[in-house]
Amino acid sequence: MSQKPIYVTQPHLPPFEEFLPYLKEVWDSKFLTNGGPMHQKFERALCEYLGVNQIALFSNGTLALLTALQSLRITGEVITTPYSFVATAHSLLWNGIKPVFVDVDPVNLNLDPSKIEAAITPQTTAIMPVHCYGHPCDIAAIERIADTYNLKVIYDAAHSFGVEADGQSVLNAGDLSVLSFHATKVFNTFEGGAIVCKDAKTKLRIDQLKNFGFVDEVTVVAPGINGKMSEFNAALGLLQLQHVDEALRLRGQIDRQYRQALADIPGIECLPPSPGSKHNYSYFPILVKPEFGGSRDELYTALRRENIYARRYFYPLISSFPMYRALPSAAPANLPVATRAAEQVLCLPIYPDLTSSQQDQIVDVIRAQRR
Ligand SMILES: *Cc1c(COP(=O)(O)O)cnc(C)c1O
Repeated sequence: MSQKPIYVTQPHLPPFEEFLPYLKEVWDSKFLTNGGPMHQKFERALCEYLGVNQIALFSNGTLALLTALQSLRITGEVITTPYSFVATAHSLLWNGIKPVFVDVDPVNLNLDPSKIEAAITPQTTAIMPVHCYGHPCDIAAIERIADTYNLKVIYDAAHSFGVEADGQSVLNAGDLSVLSFHATKVFNTFEGGAIVCKDAKTKLRIDQLKNFGFVDEVTVVAPGINGKMSEFNAALGLLQLQHVDEALRLRGQIDRQYRQALADIPGIECLPPSPGSKHNYSYFPILVKPEFGGSRDELYTALRRENIYARRYFYPLISSFPMYRALPSAAPANLPVATRAAEQVLCLPIYPDLTSSQQDQIVDVIRAQRR
């Protein structure tokens, strides 16, 4: 039994002393929230780091998703993936929108563009894909469909901080992209999120909606929410940004070591790296195939016995939760690829401070479970 538990992720925090000057600046300014100096600096720094035009910060990714849909006045039906974190579809329900689930691609587990058109109805107004595990969606194919049918595209980019496809940030794809800076994500502000948009007018509307819908002191134009990021979280973000390149580099090493160590275990399949993309190694999903002998759940349990907490992301599928499962599109027969992936997937621990010997230990447990 390993001494200390190994969780699927662990935040990478800079030395505490490095945060003190940032905190001092917040204390001295007396701005605690409402778009103060830290918030403004963090927005500018993020635009530059990510290579995007405009960004609006939020207190978390879920409120950013809710507001993204509201900002574009999305109604009716939205096509989305069942293979994601539940917040993706919840953001639709919160806006009174009907989710329409479409199956995923067997290779990258992202929304399968070849299945989208069949799900479009006169009520469809948008597509909400997810760059699952930070692997880019087929952006060009989704854009072609959106253009043909005049649909908006809002990417749930919660996993894709720093990810590029064809030399460009994936956050520039579609109409809007939504990030999460939750503690478990590659880049965190403890809690936080953001919407990436293309122009100042869209950002202004988003900024109004995250502040109750106020456009000036006495005018409210929409039932906006309170989604503002505080100065404390923005200060954390500015500090974390100094360390994110190193964190991504360390994650890349861990990814390489897993791929080498797991290559000769029959029935353990790693998701292939996406061609032509800069990855962020946010997750390390494996698929436990029948050739492995034991099931995914047996492996999950065996790892837990050794104090190794791998996670079954994404199981259960969103479409199987009670508020979704009565939808016709939620039927497992409509989602065979996602259903199988949810039964076979296991995300192994990956975070910058995971040691090489901890990785060996994880791989040894997997090897010993093979039958
Ligand atoms: C984490 C996550 C969210 C929600 O973000 P929060 O910041 O935790 O609200 C939404 N979608 C996906 C795919 C996520 O992984």
